[in-house]
Amino acid sequence: MPEIRSVAVFCGSRVGASPAYVAAAVALGESLANAGMRLIYGGGRIGLMGALADGALAAGGTVIGVIPDFLQRFEVAHAGCSELIVTDTMHTRKRRMFDLADAFVTLPGGLGTFDETFEILTWRQLKLHDKPILICNIEGSAAALLGLIEDSIRDGFAPPDARALYETVAGVPALMQRLVRMEAAPAGDSRLL
Ligand code: AMP
Repeated sequence: MPEIRSVAVFCGSRVGASPAYVAAAVALGESLANAGMRLIYGGGRIGLMGALADGALAAGGTVIGVIPDFLQRFEVAHAGCSELIVTDTMHTRKRRMFDLADAFVTLPGGLGTFDETFEILTWRQLKLHDKPILICNIEGSAAALLGLIEDSIRDGFAPPDARALYETVAGVPALMQRLVRMEAAPAGDSRLL
């Protein structure tokens, strides 16, 4: 059974209002490193993104940052990444992150995090891929995002089985328990290839 070896994490470029968010980002970075899973992320050194990468690097993990050229200046690329991939556009960044990952995790974040999460969900809804997507509901931070999906089902704009596109976990320990047990989609299965 193919295991999950690389995990893309979408999260805020700000730290957010609760210290629990930074703690979760650091803990996820450490946990991925300890599990021997490669971290794929947006390549910044600020906000939850930076905390996540620092957590993984401090625990000896492999961290691949994928950042568009113009954002290098805004987000201040993380100089300590094992590898930093610089793309020409936001779209090629998301595509590279998709290609490199066996699974996707959403931590708390803002509009960019929502965008990345919904894109990967809609690609799965369109059956362009079948890679697992896990939404980490730290202190209820994902309630509005999950509520939006529920509202769209209630209003008849999404089928009830849209709920099967993702799993929700309450925190990093539960997330890791799922990741180590999950099967990766077979290589070459993606229609985005
Ligand atoms: P945020 O959650 O808004 O702090 O953004 C988190 C990550 O999403 C950062 O790496 C941003 O570069 C990225 N991001 C921001 N806006 C967008 C967008 N419109 N499309 C894709 N990614 C974005």
